[in-house]
Amino acid sequence: TATVEFPLHTEVREFVSGPLELLIGGHWVPAASGRTFPTYDPANGEKIAEVSHGEAEDVNRAVAAARKAFDEGPWAAMKPNERERLIWRIGDLLSERAEIFGQLEALDNGKSAAIATAVDTNWAADVFRYYAGWATKIEGSTVNVSMPFAPDAQFHAYTLREPVGVCGQIIPWNFPLLMAAWKIAPALAAGNTVVLKPAEQTPLTALLLGKLFEEAGFPPGVVNIVTGFGDAGAALAAHDGVDKVAFTGSTEVGKKIVQAASGNLKKVSLELGGKSPNVVFADADLDLAVPGSVNAWMFNHGQCCVAGTRLYVEDTIFEEFTQAVAQAASQVKIGPGLDPETQLGPMVSQEQFDRVSRYLGEGLADGARALTGGKRWGDTGYFIEPTVFVDVKPEFSIVREEIFGPVVAAMPFNAEQGVAAAANNSEYGLAAGVWTRDVAKAHRTAKELKAGSVWVNQYNGFDTAMPFGGYKQSGWGRELGAAALDLYTQTKSVNIAL
Ligand code: ADP
Repeated sequence: TATVEFPLHTEVREFVSGPLELLIGGHWVPAASGRTFPTYDPANGEKIAEVSHGEAEDVNRAVAAARKAFDEGPWAAMKPNERERLIWRIGDLLSERAEIFGQLEALDNGKSAAIATAVDTNWAADVFRYYAGWATKIEGSTVNVSMPFAPDAQFHAYTLREPVGVCGQIIPWNFPLLMAAWKIAPALAAGNTVVLKPAEQTPLTALLLGKLFEEAGFPPGVVNIVTGFGDAGAALAAHDGVDKVAFTGSTEVGKKIVQAASGNLKKVSLELGGKSPNVVFADADLDLAVPGSVNAWMFNHGQCCVAGTRLYVEDTIFEEFTQAVAQAASQVKIGPGLDPETQLGPMVSQEQFDRVSRYLGEGLADGARALTGGKRWGDTGYFIEPTVFVDVKPEFSIVREEIFGPVVAAMPFNAEQGVAAAANNSEYGLAAGVWTRDVAKAHRTAKELKAGSVWVNQYNGFDTAMPFGGYKQSGWGRELGAAALDLYTQTKSVNIAL
């Protein structure tokens, strides 16, 4: 098996041998029911570990612990520079153990260990340090008031930015550690406490992260982690003791979160699905645009909410460009994430493998032609060949729906008619790519695209300081950057008659 061929770090081996329990109020505890659930290595379908199966009762306990840490302190009352120091420490501990986290992530999720170390873990560390810096820089303002009905009165008015309270955070399996960092770091910087519900497919790195909060010296109850399934997420989203819920995942579940949150009208932020357009003009630097466009839909095996899976290519270069993309895609090295040579790993789970396979079948049945790929790779594990579809129509499911696999649908466009209308013809609006050497065209197109992020002459151009989130049904609110602090603070206006 993959785990035998590619030896694990001692720390990873010891960690997965368990017990892998819930972090509640500073203690590692089994689920109230005593139940556990298995997590699998997607490269071979074998069980890695048993993890505590948290349910509503465990969510109740975790929320109570987070409430206590918030309402009674010390967290919300702690000086910003103390919070800064603790959050920064998480970043440093992650950096020190980047290889351990990277390997554990690769084992649980299937992605390449090298990428899980260099991208997922190092970026997660960076996110903690970035928000550590914000802890001391969250400021209100003074306001000059001039009430027309009290012309002679004098006032001193100001705003305070205060934490929201207990934050329920529900995350997916595609970037398990990184999504935990995006969620937890800004919440803590602003003085909130957290209950995190990792995805059931990939609970391991969140639990290892939980150990770091202990090690860094966080007070108990500031960060609580409840591993479990959708019912645990639903309990968290509905809980009256939770003041805010932040969710990353499917648009379908996002709508359920909104409904569940309506009971106490807790604040909601959502980072949901996408079907992002990637637009290549004939004047693009094709040496960059070919590998860049492959990266757009194939990074993380296509299991990215931002994946550029609708590839619009100007008609004069369509043949040449799609052939080159197919050629590059067909040459990637497929294998288990623990293999240092691997560029494309397995889908995360049997369910995801089945879903992507179903879309491949639908695309072919609809009449699409696969320039490369179109089927399963190998006969063990959840591997799918990278697939480039042409001869597609806008109404095909492979063009409209989020597949979350290494599958792209390429379509020609005529430059004079503009491409934005086609690109914007989606219920989603998360991200978009534009490739051109013409600066004015780049800016014009970036403005026309209805997407929360537009990347020009690159794809996946994320930065910790840049706000990220969706237009349309891709979400509510913006994570990363200073924008995330808006999700985790509320403004109080104080007006004093002098
Ligand atoms: P994906 O389609 O990427 O698996 P999901 O939206 O199904 O994403 O899941 C993302 C996260 O939401 C996971 O942690 C999952 O357990 C959780 N989840 C699933 N169903 C619900 C629900 N009804 N309420 C709250 N959380 C849920």
